[in-house]
Amino acid sequence: MWFFSSPNVVFGEGALGSLDTLKGRCACIVTDANLVALGFLERVRGTLASTGIEIAVIDNVESDPSIETVKAGAKRMLEIKPDWIIALGGGSVIDAAKGMWILYEHPDFDPESINPIDHIGLRVKARFIAIPTTAGTGSEATWAIVLTNRAEKRKLGLGNREAVADIAILDPEIIRDLPARITAETGLDALTHAIEGFTSTYANDFCDGLCLQAARLVFDYLPRCYHDGHDMDARTHMQNAACIAGLGFGNSMAALAHGMGHALGGALHVPHGRAVALFLPYTIEYCVHTGNTRYAALAKFLGLPAGNEVEAAANLVEAIRKLEREIEQPLTLPEAGIDQGMFDQALQQLIANALNDSQTIMATRIPEEADLRRLFTCAFNGEKVNF
Ligand SMILES: [Zn+2]
Repeated sequence: MWFFSSPNVVFGEGALGSLDTLKGRCACIVTDANLVALGFLERVRGTLASTGIEIAVIDNVESDPSIETVKAGAKRMLEIKPDWIIALGGGSVIDAAKGMWILYEHPDFDPESINPIDHIGLRVKARFIAIPTTAGTGSEATWAIVLTNRAEKRKLGLGNREAVADIAILDPEIIRDLPARITAETGLDALTHAIEGFTSTYANDFCDGLCLQAARLVFDYLPRCYHDGHDMDARTHMQNAACIAGLGFGNSMAALAHGMGHALGGALHVPHGRAVALFLPYTIEYCVHTGNTRYAALAKFLGLPAGNEVEAAANLVEAIRKLEREIEQPLTLPEAGIDQGMFDQALQQLIANALNDSQTIMATRIPEEADLRRLFTCAFNGEKVNF
């Protein structure tokens, strides 16, 4: 038995305006200081003005949000008592807001114990709206919640099926001025979701089409967004791609590139999209050796030569690296700013984090410690994975 979850998605030009039909008593907007400074909060507040809904704001979510931030936000919500939670931000903000939502509904809950199996019982106190301000994480469409345990320097891949937004609002105007580097990193996160969602062991009929189309949209439109942020046609398609990839991998699973990417983000603070996309080609080379892979179907859909799995994997890897080079993203750990000393010092932790990550075991080939050591080393040296 498995489930397909989705928010109601409002998309396209003017989508933010749909907020003026919202009914309720009090909305708590969760965001970060940067977005407040950029005027996003005021834009949402202005749209809500005609509804008469009282507005409270939590604006201190950091990137890679911690358990402590989530607990503090939930405590605030218990005082404010909102009946809507509006997450306005990138993946960090949306994930933190989901965590706050769960603890607001159930103050005794231990956030580290949030899991996909338990029935939590959300929507007794509040419903949830996600307004993504990047095009990539797909958090507006998934029930995944990634938090960071600061003391242990590791990311926690949490989630629960109920923690999917009631409404996701995709307004391309909101990502119009997204800086090129963040456009590139988050866009590659969407590509990694699409490819891993299609090739994880949880891939299923409901998600296949979503993942394929999302992957194609990223290849077609991410370079255009990177080179000209005000290309609104490209921005619109990328925003759709990110959400569609979110629906795809959110209802199947991510896999090894996410396991390794989370490890790198937790230990050495490389941004999420940059980290997972850096590892993606290496994990494809690794899985195709003995895994029961589907790279030929994916490559064919993307118009790449795909006579067999090995050829398809090689062409897919080359296409991903070509895209990464075009949008100036790192292909190796040193290009991501990790020098030999940092790598040697962090390697054991990277391996331990990746082994413990819930996404690692969704790969069609599950690595043990020795293989992870070699995989991280290949990613450091920029070597082909041939074992
Ligand atoms: Zn991701």
